[in-house]
Parts: sequence; structure tokens; C-alpha cells
Amino acid sequence: MRRREFVVRAGSALAGAAAGIRPAAARPQGKRRGGPTKVQAVIRELRLRQAWTLSRGTWTTRRNVFVRLERDGVAGYGEAAPIARYNETAESGLAFVRQVEPLLQGDLWAFHDLWTSIDRSAPGEHAAKAAIDLAVLDWATKSLGVPLYRWLGLDPRRAPRTTYSIGIDEVRVMQDKVREAAGFSVYKIKVGTADDRKIIEGIRAVTDKPLRADANEGWKSREEALDMITWMAARGVELIEQPLPARQLEDYRWLKERTPIPIFADESLMTTADIPGLAGAFNGINVKLMKCGGIQEAVRMAAVARAVGLKLMLGCMIESSLGIAAASAVSPLFDDADLDGNLLIANDPFRGLGLEGDRIVVPAKPGLGVEGEVWAGES
Ligand code: MG
Repeated sequence: MRRREFVVRAGSALAGAAAGIRPAAARPQGKRRGGPTKVQAVIRELRLRQAWTLSRGTWTTRRNVFVRLERDGVAGYGEAAPIARYNETAESGLAFVRQVEPLLQGDLWAFHDLWTSIDRSAPGEHAAKAAIDLAVLDWATKSLGVPLYRWLGLDPRRAPRTTYSIGIDEVRVMQDKVREAAGFSVYKIKVGTADDRKIIEGIRAVTDKPLRADANEGWKSREEALDMITWMAARGVELIEQPLPARQLEDYRWLKERTPIPIFADESLMTTADIPGLAGAFNGINVKLMKCGGIQEAVRMAAVARAVGLKLMLGCMIESSLGIAAASAVSPLFDDADLDGNLLIANDPFRGLGLEGDRIVVPAKPGLGVEGEVWAGES
């Protein structure tokens, strides 16, 4: 027996027994081993249930890129939710996937080196890099016959509960959104507007639950930020995310000395390399697969953030159940989760994720554990 076959069979039998799933040996085997890799990528428009407003804009649809790669009879899926703030579009993400397709014809099992090669092939395009990383790891763990969380050595029962985000709107609409999301125990309120006090007072009028606030860089001076944070803390806001523009790290250091509640970085960081510089300026960081480039980088970020004493939140963009499934798999490494992006989508092309109260339930299936129909009619 070749070594790889042994690893595949032994790994799948152990993990299959633990997760109550069928061992990989029972899967239909592809006719060819070792490639080639068939790569498909497509842009899909995701319609939002309601208009989504942050301090920097409003959206009613999102255009995400879906990647499917197939090798040796096993298909892996990934998703990119491009971030305009970092000059990413669905078109640029799709072009990047096509650009790096030759790299996917190499050894997919060497996915550590593969990700490094892909990352170095062009700056930016973190969402597209994440889509490829998700697809490769979905493929690898399906080939091994284990759920991604098992392969990561994580217990899905330790996944943090997810907050539910309330986008900016008229106060009465924001109140309705809170009432509709009664199953969640913590709400993340989007602020960073001229009406922030009215928003928080309005939300407080309909719920006693803990609140978190995300200003998305909406406040401009450290004095304004400290004034608002202190006011909000007195009204049960327990955490504030990105109150000031990303690059004002001196102001963040000033703020950290004075804030009564933890301050988390979101727009101020993307990848592991950013973390050491943030340790003195924030109490925690919000990691997103789409910002950092996927699962492998998110795991590295969690380790480095722990080492420098930062708390860890795992967030998301507006992503289908595919992207949220990947984040959920790695979420036991994090203290807090804000993984509600799929709940905002009216035409989610993937299914399989469960929600019990405010806890995401990842199915005990190999890979990311979700199925989709993005590829119907594609060749
Ligand atoms: Mg944020």
C-alpha cells in the first residue's frame, strides 16, 4: 500500500468512527489519481433580504465568486466575498482564480506551500485566495473522509455562539430587526452615524440583552470616539469595533488607555503580519476568512494573536452558507463569533448549515459539510 493510500484509509476510518460518518473507502473512487484538476469559477448575485447599510454605504445585492475544483473524483468548493474597501471586485476575484489555475495542477496535498505560492502570485485579492483555500481544504478533507473541523482538531461543540448584526436603518426598522432575531443572545449594532445615540437608545427600548457596536471607522477623532464609547458603555454596550479610521493607530493607543470596554480591530487588520503592530492599540481583533485569505491563514492569526495577548473574534462578510460553514469549522479557536452573513441572503445557493438558537450547527459530513447548486448548467 502506498503511504498516501494508508494515510487516507487510516485517517478516514478513525475520524469516520468519531464523527459517525461513512469511511472514505466506501466512496466511489475517481478513475484517475494525481490530476488533472478541473477548476470552475463563476460569479453569482446574492439578493439580500433587506437593504444592508454600514457607515460607508448601502447594498441590496452582493456579487460573490464561487470556485469548484475537482480531482480524482472528489469536488471541493470555495467562495469569495470580494471587499470593495480593499479594491476587490467579483471580476478581479474571478480573474485571479483563472490566473492561478496552473498552480492547482500541482500537488494539492501540499496545500501549505500551495497557498504560499498563490498568495505570492499577486498582492491583494484576499477573498479570491480564501475561495481557493476553502476549495482545496474542502477537497482534501472530503478525500480523507473527515469534516474540516475534525481535521483541524477542533470540537464543534466549543464553537462560540454567534452575534446577530443589525444594519443601519431608521430606528423603528432596527427595532423590528432586533425583535425578529429574538433567538440571539447578543446583537452587534452598526453605528458610526450622526444618529448613534438615538440608535442605541432605540435598541435599548426593545431589548435588555448585551449589545456590541461596530462603527466601521465612522467616528473621526479620538475625543469623539471616547465620548461615544463611554456613553454606550453606560447603556450596556460591552464591546466596540473599529471606532476610528484604520490607520489612526496612535489614536487607538490613546483610546485603549482610557476606554471602559474592549476595542476590537476589524478594518485595521488583514493578515498575520498586521497583528504584532496592533497589540498595544486594541484589546482584540476581528479575523475574517475573506480578509486574510482563508482557513490556513486564520489558524495562524489565532495563534499569533493569542501569543501577543489579543482577544479573538471571527467575523464574516455577506457570504453564503459555504463561506459561513468554513468559518464555523475554525470558530472553536476563537472567543467570539459574528457569523451571520448567510442569514442576510434571500437566495443562498448552499444548504446544510443548521442554527440552534444562536449556535451554528455544522453537519458531521466530510469537508465543509454543505451542498450547493451554483454549478447547475455550468461546464
Ligand atoms: Mg466590523
